[in-house]
Order: sequence, then structure tokens, then C-alpha cells
Amino acid sequence: MGSNRIVLGTVSRGLTICDVGPRDGLQNEPETLAPATRSELVNRLAAAGVPRIEAVSFVRTDRVPRMAGAEEVVAGVERREGTEYAGLVLNLKGYERLRETELDRVDCTLAATESFNQRNGNMSLDQAVTQAQAILGVSELPVTATVSVAFGCPFEGRVDPGRVVELCAQLDAPELVLADTIGVATPRLVGELVRRVANGRPVGVHLHNTRSTGYANAVAALEAGATVFDTSIGGLGGCPYAPRATGNIATEDLVYLLEGDGIDTGIDLDALVSVSEWLEGLLGRPLEGQVYRAGPFPSRTTPEAASASISSAE
Ligand code: ZN
Repeated sequence: MGSNRIVLGTVSRGLTICDVGPRDGLQNEPETLAPATRSELVNRLAAAGVPRIEAVSFVRTDRVPRMAGAEEVVAGVERREGTEYAGLVLNLKGYERLRETELDRVDCTLAATESFNQRNGNMSLDQAVTQAQAILGVSELPVTATVSVAFGCPFEGRVDPGRVVELCAQLDAPELVLADTIGVATPRLVGELVRRVANGRPVGVHLHNTRSTGYANAVAALEAGATVFDTSIGGLGGCPYAPRATGNIATEDLVYLLEGDGIDTGIDLDALVSVSEWLEGLLGRPLEGQVYRAGPFPSRTTPEAASASISSAE
């Protein structure tokens, strides 16, 4: 194992992929899946070795109907050693619901802009900061503070990186994630902001591939020192503000990229591909992810089978 390999296991130095498909992905798909199916997705991801899974969100069902039954989803999770199970909350009320479940980590999300907090969380930016600080103050669980629309906002346009740096400085969070919620970031912006907010603590990125910059942004974040990567299986999801847009960067596509570059993710890529195939069957349509359609390389099939399919294609 070369010295350039990043090995999972230590939070301060390792690399953590967090699959947000069961939450961010399914929240933005047209179908509403039953809690039992959502639990099964979480269990399949854990079996593939995904180190962290954002399984649910504790938000108002009238605002986010696809996330109804969060407690039921968590109850259906067959806990697997080595996997950390997280839930998203926007306020103390959500945190209190999460605390009644078996989840391990709180993803406390607030937005970088006034308008997005108002529209998404029904709070002012100040109120959102106060809620996040209160959760950070009381939580007995590890907390990730996620700053959404950190690069661009559907209501306010480009977001000044200085504002995001200031906001992050107000959050005494052990881990910060910068979210490109509407998929408008480009690599240099991502790298610069990761460097500016880090201040010695782990920083992650939550990237959407809305405008095809998601994977380039992930590489830029990695080079800038990011250690947490939010992705979704199959690239599940979309964007509530751009109905025809694609979702998060796909977990298996990022795993392929990282492993190919010699970075150990701890994830079984073949198993991950099988989860996307299962999901494709469940939803009845192809997903956005590309690696599950093309297949990993080297291929799972034998060299003979691969050459046979090539010659039949000629
Ligand atoms: Zn997202």
C-alpha cells in the first residue's frame, strides 16, 4: 500500500463517503417509496460497505411528504458494524425526534442565504443559526453541520464565499459540509471554499451533478483536503428548483474514480452496482449514474465474455 493511499477508519485523516440517496435522492424522485423499501435500500448500501448513510430526515411531512415515516424507516434498519447511520434535521424539534431513534449522527442543515432558510426551513438565517447552535450545544451524538446553497441559491443567485466563511465560523461544529444544493459550483470555487472554511476541522462536500461539474468539483474538494463526500446511489434524486435536472453525484461513480486513483473507500464497487441495478428495477427506469450502466472496469465478466460481446457488436 503506497503512502498516497487514504485509508478509512480515522475520522480526522480518513475519507468518508456518505450515501444520501435514501434521503436527498428519494426526496426528489417522483415516486414515494414505502418505509420498508427505504429501509431495504439502507440495508443494501450498508452491505456494500458504505461507511455512512443518511437514512432519513426529521422534517414536516406536509412539507416533504416523501420523507414521511422516518421512525419506521430507522426501525427497519438492520444495523451493520462499520456503518454509521445519520438523519437530517433543521431544528431542535427534529433533533428530539432523531434522539428517540437508533441513529448515530445528526446532520444539522441550514442555508447560507436568508431566502433559502425562509423557503426551506420557514426560519430567518439568524433563527437557523440559533437552532444549529442549540443542537450543537445539546447533542450527545456527533453532529455534521451542512451549509446548503453554499455556492449558489435559486432565489439570491451567486453566494459570496465570504458570507459562507463567516457563517461557518459561527458554527462550533466538529464537521462541516458545504452543499452545492442546486449544482452550480465549479472546481476552483469548491477548492477555495473548502480551504477557507476548514480551520483545522474536517470539511466535506455535498455535490449535485446538475450541470455536469459534480465529479470535477469532487476532485477539487479532495485536493483541497475535503474528507467527507455526500453522494447518492445511482445518482438518485434531482433538484426541486430545476425539475429536469439530475441529482447528487452517484456513489458508485465517485467510488470508481477514487479507487482508480488509488484511494481506498472501503466500499465494494460490484455490490454497489448491484444496488443500482436493483433500484433501476424498482423504479422502472434507468438512473443517472454511469458506472452501473457501463459496468466497473476491470469488468465483472470474464475476459472471454467481454471479447465475445465486443465482437458481436462489430
Ligand atoms: Zn442535495
